[in-house]
Amino acid sequence: MSKKSYPYSPATALAQSLGIIDQETQAVVPPIHVATTYLRGKDNSYPTGNVYSRADNPTYKPVEALLTKLEEGHEALLFGSGMAAATAVFQGLRPGDHVLAPKVMYWALRNWLLNFATDWGLNIEFIDMTATETVAKHLKAGETKLVWLETPGNPLWCISDIAAIAKFAHAAGAQVAVDSTCATPLLTQPLKLGADIVMHSATKYLNGHSDVIAGALIGARDDTYWQRIRAVRAQNGAVPSPHDAAQLLRGMRTMHLRVREACQTAQFIAEQLDQHPAIAQVLYPGLTSFAGHTIAKQQMAGGFGGMLSVRLTGGATAAIHVAAHTKLWKRATSLGGVESLIEHRASIEGEGTPCPEDLLRMSCGIEDPHELLEDFLQALP
Ligand SMILES: *Cc1c(COP(=O)(O)O)cnc(C)c1O
Repeated sequence: MSKKSYPYSPATALAQSLGIIDQETQAVVPPIHVATTYLRGKDNSYPTGNVYSRADNPTYKPVEALLTKLEEGHEALLFGSGMAAATAVFQGLRPGDHVLAPKVMYWALRNWLLNFATDWGLNIEFIDMTATETVAKHLKAGETKLVWLETPGNPLWCISDIAAIAKFAHAAGAQVAVDSTCATPLLTQPLKLGADIVMHSATKYLNGHSDVIAGALIGARDDTYWQRIRAVRAQNGAVPSPHDAAQLLRGMRTMHLRVREACQTAQFIAEQLDQHPAIAQVLYPGLTSFAGHTIAKQQMAGGFGGMLSVRLTGGATAAIHVAAHTKLWKRATSLGGVESLIEHRASIEGEGTPCPEDLLRMSCGIEDPHELLEDFLQALP
């Protein structure tokens, strides 16, 4: 969707889901299409382009149009999960292709890359993505096909310089894909910074209510790599149910309000806990003392995200104690919902994780920030 065809801000685009009105009924909310198959014309063609719902479904269109607008991309594709979206990007590559990925990244994807992608012939190197020089050094001109970024990166919230890395990657002939789940399309627009593909776990901030699993990719252009990725979705059937797509659109209508609250609360909690004697370190890109703060300030607008981590001076025992004694912070994995979550992250990531044992990952919801702080403080040992 071009700027001309929809000239309004992200807030207006979200609240009105681009102002799309169902032509047949004048409904202000688009219909859910449950059909799995579509009638051919007498000339044997498919007059609407709809064929079979393993590949695509008209219920996705308003969500994809909204994501295309928010990321200012060429096209968006909905997937059945964030992992389905992310893995499609790697499945679009070919055996022998060289890939650079961050040492600190979403654990389930790192696991998949190690356990599946390498077996299928991808040559993946995990490197420090916070240092652009390191990335430049590891790029192999003509061989590196993809640089995968995640910024802020789970669960240490490491920041990568998308614009600087994209310049080096493109010079070497590689594309750049960014897992922008935690930044959301409201805080960072990776395509405008030079990335080629953006990935979101729509399960998180996009839907925002912990009741839909979905994912999305937004591409900058319709090149052969993007066409392969689109074919992966269609041929693998890596699609969400139409009901989930509709519920996702409902959730997205309030994303700007939820993300704004979550950012303000995360900044407040990070600042309040920063000098606390029970806390060894607060990891949050919005703290001026944070290693990636300067770059975060350049590539994030309107906030530094709703995610932070804290390391406890009392080690793993203290961390697990806190998670066991909070009442408002719910002890659960995931992030980006309206309810705040707390997690002893090393427990879920398992062996080989770069996550320290004394770390708690916190996803700020939209509750009263003072009550959230009080609840955390009363849980300290
Ligand atoms: C949750 C998450 C994913 C995976 O998304 P699912 O929808 O759970 O498959 C990928 N990246 C990040 C940063 C996430 O938080």
